[in-house]
Amino acid sequence: MAKLTSICVYCGANEGGNPEHRMAAVRFGEMMAAQGIRLVFGGGRVGLMGVIADAVMAGGGEVVGIIPEHLHDIEVGHKGLTELHVVDSMHTRKQLMFDLSDAFVVLPGGLGTLDETFEIITWRQLGLHDKPVILVNNDGYWQPFKALVQHVIDNGFARASSADLFTIVETTSDIIPTIKAAPEPQIVPKSAVL
Ligand code: AMP
Repeated sequence: MAKLTSICVYCGANEGGNPEHRMAAVRFGEMMAAQGIRLVFGGGRVGLMGVIADAVMAGGGEVVGIIPEHLHDIEVGHKGLTELHVVDSMHTRKQLMFDLSDAFVVLPGGLGTLDETFEIITWRQLGLHDKPVILVNNDGYWQPFKALVQHVIDNGFARASSADLFTIVETTSDIIPTIKAAPEPQIVPKSAVL
């Protein structure tokens, strides 16, 4: 990918029990800021979402948050961002996060993160886009995800090539080089069909 401007990060609205995940969010946020890559995320101030947004802002980078009206209080819409879009629904949020991003990175998170990750992978499976999707297996967190997808493939519910719809990297330092090494996305997404 020749021009990497914006990365969408999916991650927990909680920090989880392993401090290594918070440290990974800080590290990756600092890297994005240092390389002038804009963060696109769910707009909350809580959990790893807030941690990475703060790290990018602290490093002098740009952050765009997109939060649905009904979550503005629960996820505490972050007031210190470059831009915060308050939208009408989860669907609009996900669409805008998609439209504004060149690639998707998944840090540790919960059910919402899983939902977003499977959605972006299945959009790719359906040929709606071919932007890179990178899962960061921080401290082995996404090992069960990898095993689940392999289980689905082994049981004939997905093609073996489904495992190529996403890439698992082991450390935050591998994320940006992996995205930059990915082929240029060829599919021009038609927003209306997503
Ligand atoms: P979680 O991983 O559950 O901590 O949630 C991380 C983010 O995913 C939060 O900003 C959630 O609002 C968001 N999210 C996206 N889709 C969903 C969904 N279907 N259910 C719950 N949360 C979701």
